[in-house]
Amino acid sequence: MFAMGVASGLPGADITFFAPLLGIGTLMSVAVAVICIATAWRKGHVEGRDLAISWALPMATLVLTLVVDLGGVLWGGGDKIVMLFASALQVVCLTAFATTRLGALRVERDTAIATGKRLAELAERDPLTGLLNRRGFLARCAKDFGGRTTMPFGLILIDVDRFKAVNDEFGHQTGDEALILLADKLKTFEAAHDCHAGRLGGEEFVLGVSGIAGADLRRLGEGVRSELAKCPYDAIAPALKITVSIGIAQGLADGPFGPLYRLADDALYAAKRAGRNRVVTVEDGSDHGAGSTFTQGAGAPHSAR
Ligand code: GH3
Ligand code: MG
Ligand code: MG
Repeated sequence: MFAMGVASGLPGADITFFAPLLGIGTLMSVAVAVICIATAWRKGHVEGRDLAISWALPMATLVLTLVVDLGGVLWGGGDKIVMLFASALQVVCLTAFATTRLGALRVERDTAIATGKRLAELAERDPLTGLLNRRGFLARCAKDFGGRTTMPFGLILIDVDRFKAVNDEFGHQTGDEALILLADKLKTFEAAHDCHAGRLGGEEFVLGVSGIAGADLRRLGEGVRSELAKCPYDAIAPALKITVSIGIAQGLADGPFGPLYRLADDALYAAKRAGRNRVVTVEDGSDHGAGSTFTQGAGAPHSAR
């Protein structure tokens, strides 16, 4: 068709020879296009529907100009003017459909991004309590506090006392509910201080605190211990009482987590050995060796169990 069109335009070409061939060829092309578009639409392709609507009038006009002589109407420019309007309408339709489609794609993309973010967030959360899991806790602390190279960073390690006995006595479901209540209380510390709360696993929780050191950090640890003990566990089961032991270590947020965690864990172990329901602080987070100074929280009551 293209070759014939070019040939018919060459100087000296016999237009009366090419005209019927070009007309038939154009009609056949329109027929093929209509079949393709109809098939695509029937198969559910939205682009097929858009093209059908956009091209219907220009195609009908094209066919009309081939079978009816419009040359005399509209001040002599009949078929050209009609085709021009039909083509303009086609452009408007296609633009409108493309814009709508782009808008829908943008919404789909935003939804996919939001879903991806939500999934990433869920991967960093403990499903039972909603607190950060170990991975999430480390990531958040590194992101939010890691750059504060000169600020102290305190690790408050919290372990529920004799939790196995709680499960044995009250059942696993009650144990779960107690952990949720405890975690909810920890979240209030997260809101009130420059810190992140996490569940490292089982009945072990953690607070990573930025900018608080020494006696203030110890006081915060003591506050955590007493607030967690005061939670209304009896609303879950009338005789249920829960206490926690706490180990605190102090270092820098951009330092490695492992040594600081081990120090806090040692302090926690010391708190357990000393009778539970108490806070023990290792004074110097930079001292990773044996012989670190453990300071027992003042006024910590002896074990409730
Ligand atoms: P300690 O004071 O020495 O920490 O004693 P403990 O009983 O708390 O410590 P132990 O490590 O012996 O037992 C921990 C218990 O915590 C055992 C396990 O069944 C329970 N536990 C861990 N994760 C969950 C949980 O998600 N839900 C419930 N209900 N119990 C859990
Ligand atoms: Mg425990
Ligand atoms: Mg434990």
